[in-house]
Amino acid sequence: MFKKLKRAALGASVPHEKATAAMQTVKMPVPGKVVLPMQQHIGEPCTPVVKKGDTVLVGTLVGKANGAVSANIYSGVSGTVSAIETVRASSGAMVPAVVITPDGNQTVDSAVKAPVVTDKASFLAAVQDCGLVGLGGAGFPTAVKLNVPSGVDTVVINAAECEPYLAADTREMLENGDSILAGIRAVMKYLAIKNCVVGIENNKPECIETMTRLLKAEAGVTVKTLPSRYPQGAEKVLIEKTTGREVPQGGLPSDVGVVVLNVTTVSVIGKFLATGMPLTTKRVTVAGDAVQNPQNVEVIIGTPANEVLAFCGLKQDVPVAKLISGGPMMGVALPDFEHPVVKQTNGLLALSAKAAAKPDMGPCIRCGRCIDACPLGLAPVQIAGAFNKKDVEALNKLCVDLCMMCGTCSYVCPAKRPVTQVMSLAKNFAKKEAQK
Ligand code: SF4
Ligand code: SF4
Repeated sequence: MFKKLKRAALGASVPHEKATAAMQTVKMPVPGKVVLPMQQHIGEPCTPVVKKGDTVLVGTLVGKANGAVSANIYSGVSGTVSAIETVRASSGAMVPAVVITPDGNQTVDSAVKAPVVTDKASFLAAVQDCGLVGLGGAGFPTAVKLNVPSGVDTVVINAAECEPYLAADTREMLENGDSILAGIRAVMKYLAIKNCVVGIENNKPECIETMTRLLKAEAGVTVKTLPSRYPQGAEKVLIEKTTGREVPQGGLPSDVGVVVLNVTTVSVIGKFLATGMPLTTKRVTVAGDAVQNPQNVEVIIGTPANEVLAFCGLKQDVPVAKLISGGPMMGVALPDFEHPVVKQTNGLLALSAKAAAKPDMGPCIRCGRCIDACPLGLAPVQIAGAFNKKDVEALNKLCVDLCMMCGTCSYVCPAKRPVTQVMSLAKNFAKKEAQK
């Protein structure tokens, strides 16, 4: 049986910093090169199906999915494969990558055709062919996620976008409402799901208004306004806030009849069903105090980060000390500026040394704020104590495995302790001990 957790905690109030939210998306020109790591998803890396010297077109399959949890990778440019090399993927693993030199013509592959979808099986096959993964940053293959068991009666659309700075989903709602609607209709129809709730934080009134207008005539579809509390978009938190259902410890959303999709993900489903163009571009919020022109940019997947930064401009007098892929709470620091935009990239934050500086850390004052703020009702300070003693039994009792590395505990800690990093170490330790 699953254990239920107390989830009274409320997360944290974080600054929005969404200065680009009102800016129309700008399409970036074809880059000088495209680097496609064969792992842009949770699961096994793809197998390259092209070799050096091959010609590829927009929409050409270059990496074939491997195993049950994987997603195809397609070229977003026409050009020539210049190398198959090894690169570090976002997961940290070294994986093969297909490097393409674009010809600038953007010729579309004749294989790109709208799929014929008539039932659940052909719908899931189409989503698999799209190469789609969770675009909120999780990277879980969408076709796998949508293969839900019977009993799932609600799809929750995650439009919270609770991370500071990020506005990619906001722009999707304001610019591509029709694709979102088409995607929601397809998911509900082919998976026989009766209800849909679109959850949007109340700091996006234009999105709430746009989506409410768009969806008001749709049977079973509602828009739910959520408080602006980080991490409102965390899957379990979102399910509880939108449906009142609580996913049990160790359980899945489907255990409470729910499947969750990011709002841009569902929009890409709508576009793919209409056009057959697989996932080859990504909207990225480019921001941070070192960026000259912060904006939302539609980028061809595989474009090196330094080309995106050059497109937006960097301030001459503010050297970039840290480049973060994603938001400041859950994003990861990129090892180099050559790192390409991948499917999961929703933000690039270029920070100065001042903005990136870590505050001085003090001793834990046992204030309990990390416990009050944890959205999953965990007790980070107690978990840290159990980890220091290498007490696996206590760690398991404290449900360390549930931690989702959201960063809220670190954010609220007045002593500026690296609480989230300790959670990560404790979680990995407990996992390894369980495997012994
Ligand atoms: S990082 Fe983990 S322990 Fe910290 S607030 Fe988030 S879920 Fe809770
Ligand atoms: S918030 Fe920081 S100082 Fe307070 S109990 Fe947690 S770790 Fe200790």
